[in-house]
Amino acid sequence: MIRAGSPHVKQRVAHAERMRKETGRRMETTSEDAPVIVWFRQDLRLGDNPALVAAIETKRPVLCLYVLDDETPGAWRIGAAQRWWLHHSLAALSAAIEARGGRLILRRGASLEIVRALVDETKAAAVFWNRRYEPFAIEADAALKGALLRDGVEATSFKGALLFEPWEVKTGAGGHFKVYSPFWRACLARGVDGTALPAPDRIAAPADLPRSDDLAAWKLLPTKPDWAGGMRASWVPGEVGALAKLDALRESRLLGYAAQRNRPDLPQTSRLSPHLHWGEISPRQVWDAAHAVAHAHAASSKDVEKFVSEIGWREFSHHLLYYAPALPERNWRESFDRFPWASDPDGLEAWRRGCTGYPIVDAGMRELWTTGWMHNRVRMVVASFLIKDLLIHWREGAAWFWDTLVDADLANNAASWQWVAGSGADAAPYFRVFNPVSQGETYDPSGDYVRRWVPELAKLPNAHIHAPWLASSATLAAAGVTLGETYPKPIIDHGKARVRALAAFETLTTAN
Ligand code: FAD
Repeated sequence: MIRAGSPHVKQRVAHAERMRKETGRRMETTSEDAPVIVWFRQDLRLGDNPALVAAIETKRPVLCLYVLDDETPGAWRIGAAQRWWLHHSLAALSAAIEARGGRLILRRGASLEIVRALVDETKAAAVFWNRRYEPFAIEADAALKGALLRDGVEATSFKGALLFEPWEVKTGAGGHFKVYSPFWRACLARGVDGTALPAPDRIAAPADLPRSDDLAAWKLLPTKPDWAGGMRASWVPGEVGALAKLDALRESRLLGYAAQRNRPDLPQTSRLSPHLHWGEISPRQVWDAAHAVAHAHAASSKDVEKFVSEIGWREFSHHLLYYAPALPERNWRESFDRFPWASDPDGLEAWRRGCTGYPIVDAGMRELWTTGWMHNRVRMVVASFLIKDLLIHWREGAAWFWDTLVDADLANNAASWQWVAGSGADAAPYFRVFNPVSQGETYDPSGDYVRRWVPELAKLPNAHIHAPWLASSATLAAAGVTLGETYPKPIIDHGKARVRALAAFETLTTAN
């Protein structure tokens, strides 16, 4: 198990807090025109934004800032699909800020240097931001806070991305949680602080605006080739798109969520994940909306409870990452360091391209490539196939997801991949190997999901859509399918792969 690696960070935060108290009067002594910088990060919204509200409450001019940081050492560079999302989300945020009288300043570089330079340039009295929980962000934030406070500039961070800070929920013994159910029970017993804050009507910008980068010059959008057509057709990045999703959730009353959330062929889940990741909507807004539904419609209460428990998994993943900062790189269970992973570049490529010969796996990987998103049940199936059928390290899968998902999130992605591998906290048992055929038959019973994403199989009858290699030659011919030509033969026999996987996992238990 990875040891909690954050005490030094806590010490730095405590040190920064002490310094804040010592220099706290600085805000009162600087000129009234000195602005407060609101540093936007993964909180690209105006509603329920505690840092923004606090800045407006100072009655000073507010300077909104976003820093594209590909330079801070140790930081995870934002993946390609997320860059596409970020471009549109920043354009939306910028327009929303301007409509209220403010201006979003864009700068690129290492956050610590950029923010300090902007403070010097604008003689800002304070910098406010909402907290992030990735280890590199915690380190960088603590360093920035310390530097600003040493310079006599107020620096305050707020809770805006989670319902529960990782240190707010504790086990009976005062430690952190490693198992989801008691974690979520403790969260529910604690209750959520307050209700969502309304978006401000006005954001007063400083009279002298510093220069801003041109968003287009950041080249976040793909051009040659432009692979984002499927994303444009699937998503409306930004706060307006996020709120529309929340309205849809209210209208659906979440009816059927508990029973049907595992069906990729149905539009049953919220598709809020990229909006939540980028903070275009806060978990508290989602929590408030879900509970309003339960309050107004008793029939929805079971569905709401299940839905909110999924938000709980998001909270739990962040809790785990905070206390195990190496989660994205290292097995949470050290015994997995001995696992006999295979080197299989062809298998990895077939998986990435959606050409494994297993229709539900290929449908998921193609949905991911086209839209930047994949249904949760299918994420589990494709992850299990990569790890257990192909014996390819979960880190390879997590890296592909990081680049291709519009909701790629360090905490959720790492915790989920380790959950499927069995190497994580509160993980799926290692002997649980998803059967891609029965998973398809159970969760995509009429084959609609496969037909949508693997159109070359569309004419196969339901009985064969999840296992075309079992169809007779006449059935295949009638559907226009030639295995190995129009659609691949299975790259591995699942039955044999399962036996091989179990033997590999057995080595972990016998080697002790
Ligand atoms: P809903 O069912 O509507 O759930 C509401 C919200 O709860 C989601 O938007 C999401 O924020 C949260 N949530 C739901 N399920 C989970 C979960 N298992 N773990 C954590 N949070 C959850 N989710 C990401 O946001 N980013 C990732 O990078 C990511 N990588 C994953 C990798 C693998 C291998 C697996 C199995 C799951 C991963 N997930 C990830 C979790 C989950 O698949 C998505 O959050 C979910 O599919 C998003 O769809 P939705 O918004 O319609 O979910």
